[in-house]
Amino acid sequence: MRMTKLYMPTLREVPSEADIPSHQLLMRAGMIRKLVSGVYSYLPLGYRVLKKVEQIVREEMDASGSQEVLMSAIQPSELWKETSRWDDFGPEMFRLYDRNQREFCLGPTHEEIFTDLIRYEVNSYKQLPMNLYQIQTKYRDEKRPRFGLIRSREFIMKDAYSFDLDEAGMMNSYQEMWEAYDRIFTRLGMKYRVVEGDAGAMGNGDSHEFTAMCEVGESNVAYCDACDFAATDEKAETIVPIAAQEAEEKALEKVDTPDVGTIEDLEKFFSLGADRFVKTLLFQAKDRVIAACIPGHREINETKLMNAIGVAEHDFEMADAETVKRVTNAEVGFAGPVGLDKEVEILVDRRVLEMKNFVIGANETDRHLINANYGRDFEGRVIDDLLIVREGDACPKCGAPLVMDRGIEVGNIFQLGTKYSTAMSATYLDQNGKAKLVWMGSYGVGVSRSVASIIEQNHDENGIVWPAVVAPFHVVVTPINVKNDEQRELAEALYEELKAAGVEVILDDRKERPGVKFKDAELIGFPIRIAVGRGAAEGIVEFVLRKDVKNKEEIAQSDVCARVIKELNKQGLNL
Ligand code: ATP
Ligand code: MG
Repeated sequence: MRMTKLYMPTLREVPSEADIPSHQLLMRAGMIRKLVSGVYSYLPLGYRVLKKVEQIVREEMDASGSQEVLMSAIQPSELWKETSRWDDFGPEMFRLYDRNQREFCLGPTHEEIFTDLIRYEVNSYKQLPMNLYQIQTKYRDEKRPRFGLIRSREFIMKDAYSFDLDEAGMMNSYQEMWEAYDRIFTRLGMKYRVVEGDAGAMGNGDSHEFTAMCEVGESNVAYCDACDFAATDEKAETIVPIAAQEAEEKALEKVDTPDVGTIEDLEKFFSLGADRFVKTLLFQAKDRVIAACIPGHREINETKLMNAIGVAEHDFEMADAETVKRVTNAEVGFAGPVGLDKEVEILVDRRVLEMKNFVIGANETDRHLINANYGRDFEGRVIDDLLIVREGDACPKCGAPLVMDRGIEVGNIFQLGTKYSTAMSATYLDQNGKAKLVWMGSYGVGVSRSVASIIEQNHDENGIVWPAVVAPFHVVVTPINVKNDEQRELAEALYEELKAAGVEVILDDRKERPGVKFKDAELIGFPIRIAVGRGAAEGIVEFVLRKDVKNKEEIAQSDVCARVIKELNKQGLNL
């Protein structure tokens, strides 16, 4: 490819809406352009990278025995109604009507569609197990589309679905997908962790997330250096020891606490540690109001709370001030479990039961209750764990202190069990002719999100540093002065030679200053740059690796091709 022919609109300025490196660099390097919020077009360079990531995913899925298909993005509502996810998915689903007012959506995921595909034609145990996948465009009307390709509203996902005879078969398929994902993310050169995830609306079996570790990631993971425990903060079980408590229950007492609302204010006012308080947090869950009581020195885990009450994220939020005032009869900041409006369901973190004589809000403005005790003064639904994990908490598996880190979820594997086959009647006949439910799993890779994640892990202040396996081109050949015949001709000759050797090479034949050419090459991130300058007369060129631009090496023109191939093979290609 010649750069004069390439549509590669690079930008000098950082686009204002792009606030993380991958988004800025994809825009600046002319790889993507925004159409509307969360919807992007892939330009030639960006599309080449995307296709390479897809291809690695495809090869490893094929190697695992999964078969590639392509399903429609348009999906009829009837299938989603069978599993009740038409309602559960909520506003994240793009919905539309055809000319006859039939309801459809643009698929945010495809569990229902794949289950429907197999339910009529897979009838016998002889047809199972089976695993199908596709690489396809997904649509989700995200509440907050952001970070370019990381949280977009239209994105490319690889989704796979396994169909097995029984639970053991499902576990086996799950393991195979886990291994395929390990191979995919390893080939993509990612630094990643596999962590236990919350299955949420997907199902109730185990799930694991593949997380590309980086500072800007939206996922918080907790892991243990002493054992193999690793989980998202949404999922991680918390170990919160409760200090020794007073022996006797004291009498409940109401005290004036003027203008003392926050836990910090209360700690000062009462001269007590935060662990002597119980916080009562109020949430609106669809049409219900929920109170969650947790130890004062810890924070609520909203995912665990949502799972406990069985509501979807889009139906769940902090109660607004008006609701708080209505159910507590007080200003915001004085909620407590004693004397709350009857309509409120109270959930209590188990650790509260170990506490004695604690302080709670009195449901009266400027008043608190002291010496409150669970059981005697109030009751609620006791939940084992409503807390969010913290760095330093004891590992639930081995007790060593946990470490917290951030990352981007690039893949997710779920054990679905028989949730979908039950709802949609996907059965087969076993050896004895008895109808049995199909056991399923589903497995996603964020293909476009992976492109951005690779950049997050591979860039410097001048641009992207592509791993060779996904680089848009492997080599850029840069004649310093295209008006100089010797330089131009040598550059052309090298370009042809490399091309013939199967190297993806781009010739920067633009009449630009060398500074501009080098800047663009570094911004776009070609793994190797061959600069052809004054040395051309003696057949000498400059060989530079993008990951080590300070190290400029002069090599003979006759050595270029072999050297390039050696380097690219070292970086994981097979030329
Ligand atoms: P998240 O928690 O980030 O919203 P999710 O749990 O909704 O992700 P899945 O439904 O498991 O995601 O989708 C499979 C994969 O698709 C994810 O692991 C992620 O890599 C990718 N993905 C999900 N949502 C988006 C999005 N809005 N933009 C780009 N990629 C996405
Ligand atoms: Mg999501």
